[in-house]
Amino acid sequence: LEAKVNRPSWLRVKAPLSGVIEEMEGLLARGRLHTVCEGACCPNAGECFALGTATFMILGDVCTRGCRFCAVSKGIPCAPDPAEAEAVAQTVKTLNLKHAVITSVTRDDLFDGGAGEFARVVIALRRITPKTSIELLIPDFAGSESALETVVAAKPEVIGHNIETVQHLYPQVQPGADYERSLMVLRNVKKLDPRIKTKSGLMVGLGETTQDVCTVMRDLRKAGCDYLTIGQYLQPTPKHLPIKGFIPPSMFAWYREQALERGFKKVECGPLVRSSYHAQP
Ligand code: SF4
Ligand code: SF4
Repeated sequence: LEAKVNRPSWLRVKAPLSGVIEEMEGLLARGRLHTVCEGACCPNAGECFALGTATFMILGDVCTRGCRFCAVSKGIPCAPDPAEAEAVAQTVKTLNLKHAVITSVTRDDLFDGGAGEFARVVIALRRITPKTSIELLIPDFAGSESALETVVAAKPEVIGHNIETVQHLYPQVQPGADYERSLMVLRNVKKLDPRIKTKSGLMVGLGETTQDVCTVMRDLRKAGCDYLTIGQYLQPTPKHLPIKGFIPPSMFAWYREQALERGFKKVECGPLVRSSYHAQP
């Protein structure tokens, strides 16, 4: 699916072990589940599936927003599946995951933005696989405080919300989102429950400067964000935003140093890093 561009050597992905992807996909199909790994064409699918790791995408695979970097289909989503929470938890148990990452499309059509479903998945996971730590990668819930309270009250170990890009690129990259609102989501999680670790991620190679990236780091730390991921933007199809630059590994190493100096507790920085890459604590 991915747009054909000449990639630098550091972006070439190792071929997945044969059968690994098919096996994982079979398991997901049985539970009528989706993962970000397939839906967003993540370059790490081979590696992560081989390790038995996946990021589950709840509330369907159709999104109400139209971010210009994202391969998830846009449109009118289906009603939530009442069996979904149980199916996610059973699959996590079957995969024997130590750490499960749960995310969703943005559901601006639902009164609670899908927050209740996130909470139901946490409850099902605690019951069915109590030793698994849980990371929720949430949308902005259109800034709804009550939706955020619902998710925080479920007490996952980690709540992530991706800032995705630098402030001045928001109109081109994700016109339905708001930089300050995204910072507020992270700040409010900490206010509601300081024990929950917060996490954010951004893509580089969209035309930002190094100074812009450092400003995002500063803003995230001010919002109390604990963990950070930075990865290269890869254009999913020719219809998506073009890549403005391939950031070399040495620059990612520099970003990592900067992030650690600013006080992030855990930092994953690299060309193929995605927000759920090496997420296990
Ligand atoms: Fe899936 Fe995340 Fe791994 Fe990508 S990095 S394959 S989205 S678990
Ligand atoms: Fe993709 Fe999330 Fe944007 Fe929806 S809100 S288009 S899932 S990045």
